[in-house]
Amino acid sequence: MLENLKESCGVFGAQDFDYRSVFPYVYWGLRGQNHRGHQSHGFLTFDGNFHIHKDLSLVPRIKRGAIQEWIMKLPGHVGLGHVRYTTSGGTDGESLVKSTAPILEHEGKTTIALSFNGNIVNVPEIIRKIREKSPNFQFDFDAQLISRKILSGLAERRDLALSVKSCMKEMEGAFSVAGITQEGELFAFKDQCGIRPLCCGLSEDRKILTVCSETVGLDVNGFEFDFELNPGELVVASEDGFAREQLVDCGRRALCAFEFAYFSRPDSMLGNKFVYEVREEFGRNLAREYPDTVRNSDIIISMPETGNDAAFGLHELTGKRWERASRRHRYVTERAFILLPKERYTTIDRKINIIDHKISGKNVAVVDDSIVRGDTTRVVVKKLRKMGAKKVYLLITFPRIMGPCFYGVDMATYGELIGSRYETEEIAEIVGADAVKYQSIDGLVKATGLSRNELCLGCITGKYPTPMAQRLADEMKERFENGYEEKGRIYEVAIH
Ligand code: SF4
Repeated sequence: MLENLKESCGVFGAQDFDYRSVFPYVYWGLRGQNHRGHQSHGFLTFDGNFHIHKDLSLVPRIKRGAIQEWIMKLPGHVGLGHVRYTTSGGTDGESLVKSTAPILEHEGKTTIALSFNGNIVNVPEIIRKIREKSPNFQFDFDAQLISRKILSGLAERRDLALSVKSCMKEMEGAFSVAGITQEGELFAFKDQCGIRPLCCGLSEDRKILTVCSETVGLDVNGFEFDFELNPGELVVASEDGFAREQLVDCGRRALCAFEFAYFSRPDSMLGNKFVYEVREEFGRNLAREYPDTVRNSDIIISMPETGNDAAFGLHELTGKRWERASRRHRYVTERAFILLPKERYTTIDRKINIIDHKISGKNVAVVDDSIVRGDTTRVVVKKLRKMGAKKVYLLITFPRIMGPCFYGVDMATYGELIGSRYETEEIAEIVGADAVKYQSIDGLVKATGLSRNELCLGCITGKYPTPMAQRLADEMKERFENGYEEKGRIYEVAIH
């Protein structure tokens, strides 16, 4: 999928029990996870004092000299990192840097640092509660709500677990958090449903503990995967290692299914399977579910990178030729938002090169991960037609997206989603394809190795794993169907 759909963040945390510097691990951990947020990055370390540095840009763009400088300026045996793409809040440079974690917050004499991935749903309610105690509280971004709740809990009881527990109980939404207390303890926890991933790993000698959004953050550092945090679980590092504590049990897990199709790196492990293996199975499912379409195709092509593994699975099962004729321009990272509106439809040409004589005169099955708004899909189909494709069939691994996401993916309204406005046949007509074939929800679930009750499938089934998100989705849908204009995330309106 080439629509640049954004998720808000990737997090990383590390503690060295032998008190050596962790900055290099944090740097590489973020670099390995930069796909989760490439607008800004932040580093924080602790050596008795907190040291912090945040900036715009991709992590690999940080100049070598600057890294040497930051190694000196960010000493400490405990560290946090964060990469972000904003899905809410101000978008000027200053706001972007400010809202990038790690954030460092104080209340009285208590300080904590936090990195956060996700989205809080009941923001107005939480702000109201915070302002009962701190009337001047100024809300800018979700991570503040978590840090405020923990800080006030710590100020009252000096008990991290109880403070985190009240956070888990009172806040609805997705939050995978890594933090550092002022005593220098690394901690990490997940919301009650575990919507966003967060895993824990150790160095070979077990002297360095790390937490990160995806297992690739461990791999890049040469660390070993230990476990994926359970929903409602808190992990706290101590001198001797770490302790796990199940604080809240909501009775179900709801890992975002879109992580498998699009967000996570293919070489990350989610739910005991490598993401690329799951995507290969997606491709095999498409072959099983749509044999006629595959039979009528001369070649398969894939939309890099997320369509590649599914295309391989489809090819492997059917023997149909997977023509590697669509390639990403490796060093083109411009995104649609920095182009002029009239240039927008040329983004695809800048990103993906398709070899036209491989397409000409052929029936082409295009494997892609999803169709969200449909704009770029239309451009791809148009391009293939121009190259002489006889038929264009779109085989899509993520089922039809019919509802918004409340948990950190920038699909905010029904109106913006082509799948909520049109039936599949109409979508094919709108994007100019001969057919659109989505993988079934059952096929997707089975391929992940998890059960329906362990996944969030909200945007494809209309059944959200948390009650307020469900209520908001129902209200928004009713408004949309009754022709009211949607103004974005209604749950974020009038909260400042
Ligand atoms: S609503 Fe969709 S994108 Fe959002 S967390 Fe659930 S599955 Fe993922």
